[in-house]
Amino acid sequence: MKSTSLHINKKQVLDWLKEVKDPEIPVLDVVEMGIVREVEIKENSITVKITPTYSGCPAMQAIENSIISLLHEKGIKKFSVKKDFSASWTTDWMSDEARKKLKDYGIAPPKYRADQQIDQPISERSIECPYCESTNTSLQSEFGSTACKAQFYCHNCEQAFEHFKCH
Ligand SMILES: [Zn+2]
Repeated sequence: MKSTSLHINKKQVLDWLKEVKDPEIPVLDVVEMGIVREVEIKENSITVKITPTYSGCPAMQAIENSIISLLHEKGIKKFSVKKDFSASWTTDWMSDEARKKLKDYGIAPPKYRADQQIDQPISERSIECPYCESTNTSLQSEFGSTACKAQFYCHNCEQAFEHFKCH
């Protein structure tokens, strides 16, 4: 009886990992954020590769710990979570579904880098209000509740909102 081989596939592991939310944006999971780069299954062990969003982002340790406890809960005995720095995380790795969820959550999502002049100061970028979709908005503070977000104000619906910066 071959009892040591895992009867799971990559899709199953990715489905599990969707239970791990970004602690700073609880509507988004680590798969749609593009933090989980790769899942490798070899014989009876799983390797999950993650790329930190921002260097020194305090959420990363929490995310790593959540992935470890999730795999324990699923009864996986042999696994490792590795940080992958081979490429820098960019907001371009966030799925369209993730961007839509951000907007529904009241955070203006990042644009794709190709659609945004990344070298332009953030105060000069045209950012759409997540509530009324007006672009009559202005930057209030380059740093919102976390370093990856900026605080904007919409002059059309007179509400403040956060923008997840293109990165
Ligand atoms: Zn508005």
